[in-house]
Amino acid sequence: MPQTSQQTPKPPRIVIVGAGTAGLNLATRLSRRLGHAGKAEITLVDENLSHMWKPSLHEFAAGTKGFDEEISLLEHSHRNEYNFRLGRFVGIDREKRLVQLQAVNDPANRPLAPKRALPYDILVLAIGSRSNDFGTPGVAEHCMMLDTPSQAKRLQAELLNLFLRFQTGALCTSNDKLELTIIGAGATGVELAAELREAAGQFARNGIHKVRRPDAVTIRVLEAAPRVLGALPENISAKVERHLRELHIDVQTGAKVARIEPGAVHLADGTVLSSNLTVWAAGVRAPEVVGQLEGFETGSLGRLKVRPTLQTLADDRIYALGDCADCPWPAKESSLPPRAQVATQQAEFMERQILAQIAGKPLKEFSYADHGSLVAISNEGAVGSLMGKAIGTITIEGWLARRAYRSLHFLHRKSVLGTWRATLGALLGGASSRIRPKLKLH
Ligand SMILES: Cc1cc2nc3c(=O)[nH]c(=O)nc-3n(C[C@H](O)[C@H](O)[C@H](O)COP(=O)(O)OP(=O)(O)OC[C@H]3O[C@@H](n4cnc5c(N)ncnc54)[C@H](O)[C@@H]3O)c2cc1C
Repeated sequence: MPQTSQQTPKPPRIVIVGAGTAGLNLATRLSRRLGHAGKAEITLVDENLSHMWKPSLHEFAAGTKGFDEEISLLEHSHRNEYNFRLGRFVGIDREKRLVQLQAVNDPANRPLAPKRALPYDILVLAIGSRSNDFGTPGVAEHCMMLDTPSQAKRLQAELLNLFLRFQTGALCTSNDKLELTIIGAGATGVELAAELREAAGQFARNGIHKVRRPDAVTIRVLEAAPRVLGALPENISAKVERHLRELHIDVQTGAKVARIEPGAVHLADGTVLSSNLTVWAAGVRAPEVVGQLEGFETGSLGRLKVRPTLQTLADDRIYALGDCADCPWPAKESSLPPRAQVATQQAEFMERQILAQIAGKPLKEFSYADHGSLVAISNEGAVGSLMGKAIGTITIEGWLARRAYRSLHFLHRKSVLGTWRATLGALLGGASSRIRPKLKLH
């Protein structure tokens, strides 16, 4: 008897662009829920081959944390059975439902991945954010930034070379001092300053004898606003500033930077500060490509405007989440801030949202639960607030705060690596930190 051929519908193609805090988390979840069962084809795109937990970039940059926590996207995608594609996202052809990728070359300019287009049925943009230089002259040419793992690696190498040159006399400074300047006293700037102080102490203990003198290394933080950590409550900002001063960090608030020149930072009031290494950490904005997407509306910080469902205003099939999305925050009558906590909660929400969309069920609205903010200000310390229905808002600091801060990273690793591998990794990492040098010195 002839068989009637019944066409089985093709599984939907879900493309996630950006393998950061939000994107990698979502790809892992969807591959477990849909990919393994063949209910969807999951593809993750990134311009890098590896993933690093961005909130730790300042520790990698200072050399106080090794790069061994990088997750290979080739290995991760193989283990979790989704597709990984190396490529730089440059646009969308919405009519043909294609994601456009630019070619990626190696450092010798040989092509690694060609220019191409990937078809999608559902597209999720999670391409994070970039430092915002607010058009300040000289920043792009003379400042280092801390947006990507490669920038963190470059900063770590520059820092090491600077201290070596100072020790050997290859670097001549007018006042026999090293001057490190961080512009911006948000979480990134403040945490980096404290980490640089830790690194300077380790350099002094590891052969860079010239920096043993207490005043040999000036670490300064310049902030245009009247206080550090302007986005956090005043009591936390005051505590953090006190801790920074205890670490002999020169905190200058109300200091607006007008321009940067090689070796010098010029303030709007005419003051000129000499600086051997200058890091720009004065806020973020969406990557440029977001503003170049035709037909999409952008909002605060140049981010893609999304509805509470996380769908873009322009297209029901295209979602955005994490730092690149401008998502309404009705409780504060504003937009959600670019933070790991938001990116993580949105990734968890998106898993359920995509399941609903595929099943043809009504979509839900994202609701953010603010669990507080923690700022790490030295090897063992942190300050911050925890928020919850049962506890209200409490301020914590010291060892407990540091543990809570570290737990955010552990929870992220647990969601992308699984409980067993994340726990084993934490135990092995803890053990190896006892025998490893406290600073990366090569
Ligand atoms: C030093 C530092 C400390 C921080 N500390 C904290 C903290 O303590 N608490 C907190 O809540 N938040 C903190 N943050 C902010 C937090 O890291 C971000 O909010 C969070 O990582 C955003 O996640 P995301 O997935 O949106 O973007 P990201 O994690 O930045 O990921 C974006 C991904 O997209 C990729 N990508 C970008 N452009 C393209 C392109 N064109 N094509 C292909 N791929 C692309 C990138 O390679 C990256 O993998 C910190 C940030 C920094 C830099």
